[in-house]
Amino acid sequence: MLFNYHTHCHYCDGKGEPEEFVKEAIGQCFHSFGFSSHAPIPIENNFAVKEQDLPQYVSDIQALEQKYPHLPLSYGLECDYIPKVSFAFDYFLQKYHIQYVIGGVHLVAYQGQLWFIDGPKKEIYDQGLQQIFHNDIRLAVKTYFYQLFEMIEKEHFGILAHFDKIKMHNQNRYFTEDEAWYKDYIYQTIELVQQKGLVVEINTRGIYKKRYPDFYPSAGIIKILYQHHVPVTISMDAHAPEEISMGFEQAMNCIREAGYKEVVGVIQGKQQIIGI
Ligand SMILES: [Zn+2]
Ligand SMILES: [Zn+2]
Repeated sequence: MLFNYHTHCHYCDGKGEPEEFVKEAIGQCFHSFGFSSHAPIPIENNFAVKEQDLPQYVSDIQALEQKYPHLPLSYGLECDYIPKVSFAFDYFLQKYHIQYVIGGVHLVAYQGQLWFIDGPKKEIYDQGLQQIFHNDIRLAVKTYFYQLFEMIEKEHFGILAHFDKIKMHNQNRYFTEDEAWYKDYIYQTIELVQQKGLVVEINTRGIYKKRYPDFYPSAGIIKILYQHHVPVTISMDAHAPEEISMGFEQAMNCIREAGYKEVVGVIQGKQQIIGI
């Protein structure tokens, strides 16, 4: 049984028409499917959907719902949280009737500068770490997690995106995931997630893009999430139709091994428990 609610099509930095994703999902007998373009942010960028395109984005997917009634579709956004910069997530939910939000941090704000921790280039991560944080990795990681905590505290959203993505370009160079100070941030995140009743996504993109040999969050953290009764979903973070189920089976095995018997799906915009 396949599902994926974290996907990017041509409206943002993904490739392909929404219909190509839907056809691929139907071909693979998906249970349900969702679109989550990068939400507009009021800074120069080449990865987010343009605000003026949002009505068309929504109506494209609504038309596909009519055309393919047997596959439950949802239209959401992956919203970036940048303190004092990004739009409130509610803005999209209310103004454009977006059905669900995946909240995440890709750009870490510090003293008026932004550190881009995602994308394919390790050099950008290293450069930002040096120029913005003078290679103080603890300060950089702290700033990332504090921004994540602030998002969880302030914004309305249902699914937390790739919450330990800060490790991706680190590749065990500046810190390891075993260090106590780092693990503290992971535990603090889990505590906050529990308080807010958020769903944590298990994101497979690092594995199939060969950027990191584990999920976001890592398998060890998935066990802790299970012990803390945190609900999860599996996300491929697909940027092309052929990526919609990559790494799904591995992630499913991993969450079953951790103890999970169910996941959270998004069916026509509403969260729903799916037995696994
Ligand atoms: Zn993301
Ligand atoms: Zn994404």
